[in-house]
Amino acid sequence: MVEACAPEAKAAPVLLVDPDEASATEAAALLAPFGWRVETRADSLDLAASVSSLRPSHLLLRLHAGRDNADLVRAVAQAARTSEPRTPLIFIADDASIDARIAAVRAGAAAYLTPPLNALALIDRMEGLSGPGQAEPYRILIVDDDVVISKYYQAVLEQAGMTVLAVSEPMAVLGHLADFRPELILMDHYMPEVQGRELAAVIRQEPAFDSIPIVFLSAEDDAAAQQRVIGVGADDFLNKAIRSEHLVSAVKTRARRFRALRATMLRDSLTGLLNHTATKEHLAGDAARMQRLGKPLALCLLDLDRFKQVNDVHGHPAGDRVLRALAHLLRQRLRVSDVIGRYGGEEFAIALPDTDVESAARVLEEIREAFAVLPQASEAGPFTATFSAGLAGLPRAGDVSRLTEAADRALYAAKAAGRNRVAIADDAAYGDAPAGTAALAG
Ligand code: GH3
Ligand code: MG
Ligand code: MG
Repeated sequence: MVEACAPEAKAAPVLLVDPDEASATEAAALLAPFGWRVETRADSLDLAASVSSLRPSHLLLRLHAGRDNADLVRAVAQAARTSEPRTPLIFIADDASIDARIAAVRAGAAAYLTPPLNALALIDRMEGLSGPGQAEPYRILIVDDDVVISKYYQAVLEQAGMTVLAVSEPMAVLGHLADFRPELILMDHYMPEVQGRELAAVIRQEPAFDSIPIVFLSAEDDAAAQQRVIGVGADDFLNKAIRSEHLVSAVKTRARRFRALRATMLRDSLTGLLNHTATKEHLAGDAARMQRLGKPLALCLLDLDRFKQVNDVHGHPAGDRVLRALAHLLRQRLRVSDVIGRYGGEEFAIALPDTDVESAARVLEEIREAFAVLPQASEAGPFTATFSAGLAGLPRAGDVSRLTEAADRALYAAKAAGRNRVAIADDAAYGDAPAGTAALAG
């Protein structure tokens, strides 16, 4: 199955242990607008049971000054450590001293924040520490003409939680790169039609894949032959007789490093969202995939309203915080499988695979309402900001460039109609061509 599993995002709550009811309520209220659900506990009683039943994405521990927190820290640390998979633990503590921070590290805290609690800072930390079930599985492409062998490797890697596409026809590999977007390619070295190293060289010619790890599987142990292949762009050689746990760890380590590397290349540094180029790449890949599966795809182009004025009135740093707040809100409210990108300065693009335009409009409408009331921080006090959005869909648009144009026209219509609204592309926005005749018109 090609499709990456798409869990309904962020269903897991955050579990906050805070002995003080008022501060717990305040923290929950801070996170709620971003779509984070907060479960609170006043003490560590039955905490391990709560963790195993709620399966929280993160465990937050609020420590107040002037109390002996040692027992609480010990109990919460124990609950975080023993949960399976381990739950990331974040301390929010009045005590900013180095001693307190060291104690937190020893208790297994992955982050340490001090009040006043800032929603953006907290969410940044939480998103940086992906909790159980939040990280997307690694996508591994197996190329081996021997179907029995590739099925075996596929089963081993899927067991370990990865998403695997096995291709037994080496010549078909290029066609799968763009839409499957593998994070590692495991390739048979000897195939009848093409040598593994030739295929690796071809893959390396694609700019988007010139750094993807390619690992060869080979039955032979000839070190000199292996060195030659590594010279043309293979990352490593694994013997076909490798034990399954070694295969899993070899693949995982390299895929993890590749993902981290890609993330810095493809992400916008202010918001952490995909940058313009990466957004377009993902959109093209998802559109092709949905087309093959006969499923719809919705594209939303979103632009902040009168953002120049926001900067002028509240200052550029406040404007930057608005952009980050919107990014957080989008990430939290949308599905893991949705593509969210910063398309331009104050413009965002969202591709929703397997979603028709009407459903996408409902989701965007909810996000629009939540955003419009979200208090934004500035030196002069809180203010609010709004956005306008335009939506268009496939297969109606015909292809990705028409889709983008149609969404852009819908966005323009939303602006013209008064802003702070979501508009769906009408026939005119699609360029008048009735559905299905795009090819004739093109
Ligand atoms: P409209 O409702 O028609 O979209 O009006 P607008 O003011 O948002 O549109 P315009 O295109 O005139 O201005 C966009 C503004 O967005 C101008 C620019 O300074 C601001 N902007 C773009 N990128 C950033 C950024 O990274 N940070 C901040 N703070 N502002 C940005
Ligand atoms: Mg703009
Ligand atoms: Mg704007």
